[in-house]
Amino acid sequence: MGQAGASGDGVPSFADTATLRWMGDISPYAVLLVDGDGAIRQANAKAGTLFGYGAEEMVGLSIETLVPEGDRQRHGELRETYLAAPRERPMGAGRELQALHRSGEVIPVEIALVPVDVAGTRMVMVSAIDLSVRKALEAQLHHQANHDPLTGLVNRYHFEELLAREIERGQRYGGGFALIMLDIDHFKAVNDTYGHLEGDKVLRRFAEELTGKIRAADTLARWGGEEFMLLLPGTDIAGARALAEAIRVAVNGCRMPVPGQVTVSLGVTGYRNGESVWGLLKRVDEALYAAKLAGRDQVVVL
Ligand code: GH3
Ligand code: MG
Ligand code: MG
Repeated sequence: MGQAGASGDGVPSFADTATLRWMGDISPYAVLLVDGDGAIRQANAKAGTLFGYGAEEMVGLSIETLVPEGDRQRHGELRETYLAAPRERPMGAGRELQALHRSGEVIPVEIALVPVDVAGTRMVMVSAIDLSVRKALEAQLHHQANHDPLTGLVNRYHFEELLAREIERGQRYGGGFALIMLDIDHFKAVNDTYGHLEGDKVLRRFAEELTGKIRAADTLARWGGEEFMLLLPGTDIAGARALAEAIRVAVNGCRMPVPGQVTVSLGVTGYRNGESVWGLLKRVDEALYAAKLAGRDQVVVL
């Protein structure tokens, strides 16, 4: 065994595959040695595990076996382009790729490529890592960053993003939207009487009740404490007022864990072309404040 040095173009060359096999055995990655025709010549145990084969079973398979069908032709072309001028490609330098597990499941992977010459034949050592766990974790973190843990609703941070997006969309393609701000009445008394944990249950039940009343295109957020915000794309003032009134009535009739019933005050407004997020939020807040001042358990439109 042994490395015979490097060929003219700097590609490391080996007399045989023994050294490469040893490197594959100690590598932390799934490693495949692929020849110029795209045939797998060697696979380490981790490659077998990653793709669902026995390592020896993979020998002789085309590398395109591990590529989802729709990407195979393109992969073949890229492979030939690569072989014509092979360069070392480190982990993380390329885009995330989709690989095909033997089960038919598509798995996200990241790969590194190192061209090698074995007994005068140009080959490529492919190292791969499974990104599934990292991707799942990223998705979980992303969800946590954008949602409220108590109710599962969109949080204020994400709602503000969606609101800005909706304004931008309206400016580009036209079409307005409405906003409803909701605040549970005398909620402090619920906490004071029944305790914070019971108060939490009421908040959850309230969120469920509202979720059942809105369309898929609408966004309901927990704005903070016992305040909620509803974004209604493509809805005019009259539609938003009607929904706010329907929510008010539904909350009145909704049996809460304690104290049996709560009421809610709602502020309603429509987006006015050209105004800032700040102007819009200020107005909906004023509408809610007016509903509180007028005696609570009511809807005010501004
Ligand atoms: P108003 O009718 O004027 O809205 O009266 P209110 O008592 O609802 O208003 P206030 O803003 O004075 O009190 C809101 C209460 O909401 C106070 C706070 O303890 C409670 N709260 C805020 N966040 C939570 C939470 O996550 N869980 C529980 N249980 N209570 C919360
Ligand atoms: Mg309140
Ligand atoms: Mg409040």
